[in-house]
Amino acid sequence: MTTVASPIDRSAQSADALCAVGAEFHRRGWSLGTSSNYSLVTSRTPFRLLITASGMDKSSLTRADFVTLDEHGQQIDNHDDRAKPSAEAMLHVATARRPGVGAVLHTHSVWATTLSDLYHADGALFIEGYEMLKGLNGIKTHDHRERLEIIDNTQDIRTLAQKLTRRFDANDPALTYGFLLHKHGLYAWGRDLAEARRHIEIFEFLFEVIGRTLMLKGARTR
Ligand SMILES: [Zn+2]
Repeated sequence: MTTVASPIDRSAQSADALCAVGAEFHRRGWSLGTSSNYSLVTSRTPFRLLITASGMDKSSLTRADFVTLDEHGQQIDNHDDRAKPSAEAMLHVATARRPGVGAVLHTHSVWATTLSDLYHADGALFIEGYEMLKGLNGIKTHDHRERLEIIDNTQDIRTLAQKLTRRFDANDPALTYGFLLHKHGLYAWGRDLAEARRHIEIFEFLFEVIGRTLMLKGARTR
């Protein structure tokens, strides 16, 4: 006999999965302190997004450290006055509303922050020729050039979310796996949490390889 998980069970399971992501990303140095946010689509109709609340330490998340948002970014649960969505939640909502996106993960690693500044004038970080690129969904060969856009950081998240929504609605091919925010960090997504986590891991590996290569060569390469 199969048992069907109730919405409450599903929400708790989703929170547990995101807690595990937080513990791992903190341990690996990608989500230190209260930085970063993680979200998971728990229902498509109606749209429901479970997301880390503002100001929570990512090394020790608990089920109480999440809020649920609707498609407008409005919080639909108020089980705990302590838990409120962060300003960046609107970027998660804008991304997760896109068909085929089941989870959105955001990190603040040293290498993402460093490279987002080093290549800011170029508008993008180009990653080319690495075997690990095949960890991105749909890429079958190392012979690939991935363009990861570097978007200006802002505290006006609502305007940035509106811009992203327009680009997603237009199926902008530049926004396939994620983007960098200047001097801030990485957003990446996937059809489910496992794929989003893998995309973060692949990008963070590639960022570190590029950064360390530049350091060892002592010069910027093109
Ligand atoms: Zn951030």
